[in-house]
Amino acid sequence: MAESDVETAIIGGGAAGLAAARRLHDAGVRCLIVEARERLGGRAWTVIDPSGFAIDLGCGWLHSADRNPWSEIAHAQGRAIDQTPPPWSRPSLTHGFSAAERRDYAQASHAFYERLDTAEQQPDQPASALLEPGCRWNNLIVAINTFVSGAELPQVSAHDLARYEDTGVNWRLTDGLGALVSSYAASMPAALDCPVHRIDHSGLRLRIETAKGVIAADQAIIAVPTSALAGEQLFAPALPQKVEAALALPLGLDDKLFLSLDQAEEFEKESRLLGRTDRTGTGAYHLRPFGRPQVEAYFGGTLARELEAAGERAFFEFASGELTALLGSDFARRIKPVRVHRWGADPFARGSYSYALPGQADARAALAASVDNRLFFAGEACSRHDYSTVHGAFLTGVAAADQVLAVRRKGSPRPS
Ligand SMILES: Cc1cc2nc3c(=O)[nH]c(=O)nc-3n(C[C@H](O)[C@H](O)[C@H](O)COP(=O)(O)OP(=O)(O)OC[C@H]3O[C@@H](n4cnc5c(N)ncnc54)[C@H](O)[C@@H]3O)c2cc1C
Repeated sequence: MAESDVETAIIGGGAAGLAAARRLHDAGVRCLIVEARERLGGRAWTVIDPSGFAIDLGCGWLHSADRNPWSEIAHAQGRAIDQTPPPWSRPSLTHGFSAAERRDYAQASHAFYERLDTAEQQPDQPASALLEPGCRWNNLIVAINTFVSGAELPQVSAHDLARYEDTGVNWRLTDGLGALVSSYAASMPAALDCPVHRIDHSGLRLRIETAKGVIAADQAIIAVPTSALAGEQLFAPALPQKVEAALALPLGLDDKLFLSLDQAEEFEKESRLLGRTDRTGTGAYHLRPFGRPQVEAYFGGTLARELEAAGERAFFEFASGELTALLGSDFARRIKPVRVHRWGADPFARGSYSYALPGQADARAALAASVDNRLFFAGEACSRHDYSTVHGAFLTGVAAADQVLAVRRKGSPRPS
């Protein structure tokens, strides 16, 4: 691909870019997905582990599954959907967390989320301001939020957190959510292993400089993570408003570690243990996901950053330390590391999902705004209510594609 010419270039082949591409392709627009990785799907990524199980290293849950467009796509493709309620919606196992403590915690957490519901009635502030001073469960509330935001509550905008919408219905795909996402655009033109270095929008047509040559286009949909917009000068002339919005919406960090588990039947299927209930840096351990002899461990925020810095083995050692403290030292012999992915070290993600800094909830709209009716923006961070999710990404991709179609219908690639 030394020099090519398309109507619309879609930069980034994650859920947002693929949704946009599909919409444009179906409407007859000559488009090309330009993706830095050797695979499509981005932060949606299913791999087959050595035991033959499909494991999702990125997104795994169809959140708000009853209104999630990926649920419909999965149905249409005849994929097996598992509707078992998620472990976080049911009581955790009582190891290190008695039934009375769980009840007490549930009340404190409920009160926190009630205060969050009214957060937009006051000026924005760090979400930690909504914690009840001195409450013994504050560390656990912060820990759980690192799984939601990838960052601790003091860094997170209360307004943005309050805007997130969730129907409470969560499903999974037995063969992996990443596999569904990457298959969605399988038949469409895509340039893989082709990072975009610069989008020159100074001339009559866009000039997109990539590792494999230059692409000329009428419009571009930019569907890359905020980490790819925040640092580098992707645009010429520069677009400081986009850099500013991306900096206000950093990617938090969450990483999964998969472990094999011997004598798994001792535990209930789809159950959960919390490593510690008294500190913010702790793991959540999903036992026997899909009934498999595995543990899916989840680490967020500062803890995930520290573990990434210490190397892959550190994830296993940390998990083993927390699990043996709860289940006895013999338990260490029953677990082995299967797979971990360090999303912070991943050069084309550099984090897991976006959160808004305090005072910056409206940066999502600024990020999503088009430029000159020919640069359009998509990706989970552009979504006001469904950010950080794969369905939020999908919906922003469709919205960007519809904007492109509206401009193309008017017949001018660049009105005034
Ligand atoms: C550990 C983890 C767990 C998660 N769990 C869930 C979950 O259970 N449910 C849920 O809904 N969501 C979950 N998410 C979030 C979800 O995966 C993302 O919100 C969603 O996949 C983002 O899609 P996107 O298209 O916006 O971005 P991405 O998937 O990141 O796609 C952007 C694409 O742009 C490419 N790119 C970057 N730079 C360039 C460049 N210069 N040139 C060309 N291409 C470039 C990237 O390689 C990538 O493929 C999880 C994420 C992680 C990491």
